[in-house]
Amino acid sequence: MDGARRNLVGLDRGEFAAAVAEIGEKPFRAKQLWHWVYHQGATDFEAMTTMAKPLRARLAERFEIRRPAVTTVQTSQDRSRKWLLRFDDGNEVETVFIPEEDRGALCVSSQVGCTLKCSFCHTGTQVLVRNLTAPEIVGQLMLARDSYGEWPSPGGDRLLSNIVLMGMGEPLYNYEAVAKALRIVMDNEGIAISKRRITLSTAGLVPLMRRCGEELGVNLAVSLHAARDDLRDELVPLNRKYPLAELMAACRDYPGANNARRITFEYVMLKGVNDSPADARQLVRLVQGIPAKFNLIPFNKWPGAAYECSPAPAIQKFSAILNENGLSAPIRVPRGRDILAACGQLKSESERVRKSGRDTRSVAAVDESSATMP
Ligand code: SAH
Repeated sequence: MDGARRNLVGLDRGEFAAAVAEIGEKPFRAKQLWHWVYHQGATDFEAMTTMAKPLRARLAERFEIRRPAVTTVQTSQDRSRKWLLRFDDGNEVETVFIPEEDRGALCVSSQVGCTLKCSFCHTGTQVLVRNLTAPEIVGQLMLARDSYGEWPSPGGDRLLSNIVLMGMGEPLYNYEAVAKALRIVMDNEGIAISKRRITLSTAGLVPLMRRCGEELGVNLAVSLHAARDDLRDELVPLNRKYPLAELMAACRDYPGANNARRITFEYVMLKGVNDSPADARQLVRLVQGIPAKFNLIPFNKWPGAAYECSPAPAIQKFSAILNENGLSAPIRVPRGRDILAACGQLKSESERVRKSGRDTRSVAAVDESSATMP
């Protein structure tokens, strides 16, 4: 596009070097620029006081430093915050920040929609699916940092300390962009979030698990949800391609997993489906020999869902059985209920509004379903 300025957000070190070379500047400028964009969080070249004014002006002619556009932002009474973001092509995704006592995790999306079609997950009902780009993934985090005033990167004691790739989409189906985004985010001279504070959640894309561990070294979470193939085939159709035996082997081989750094198995509690004491005991056998911990997720019901959430006593019993067998199994506390941070209703709400306004452009992009973000 003539005259369009290139966004620096989401470009990696090599691309920064090329950008600087393009305007005839020396390589050390790339390092300076990197510092301003990713460490200081600058959004305006005028703030870049280590560069002379004419250089700032030349940069501003060719480049911009832009976050994704925010359609809606809501803050919960428990301080959870949820953004509905809109990208240049009109597609939208959600990002949610979930604070804990002295830190917090940002739940990042990796795709618009999802191809996996897990039977209990609302995201799978969306029509359109596309991968997010690295800039769109990094942009989610930078925007959240802006919102909490957490620039420059202050070290270990910030609120936005952790990242979980548990938003919309299957991150390992978008491996290249996710890997590029995470390398930018982990870079010590920039945003500097350590791999130990990043968790990637997968439904079990076995062929990419080892690569993820070797190349990125992030924590792994696996959406398990069943201890038997027949049930998992139904809940997580990806299981038909990569059944439990293969998935467990990939977990056993996951680089960097050990007793101090366990693989998290996510397990959504579905009433009468996967929540019996026998299911819990079968799980114990399944994960034997794997440095494992569980995360029990009360099912978040959505309109039209074929499942109910297990009753609290059943979930507690389930957790107790895992505990008795040496497996940590906390029950995830629903957060941000008042802003529907749990199941993407903000997105469906904004789409409903637009539909009634006959804005067919965005209606074509996604159906009226919402994303699922437990
Ligand atoms: N595709 C990746 C990451 C996105 S889903 C994965 O499958 O891990 C993040 C987590 O939310 C997964 O464990 C998913 O199974 C769970 N989840 C999806 N819909 C849910 C719902 N309605 N209630 C509770 N958890 C849900």
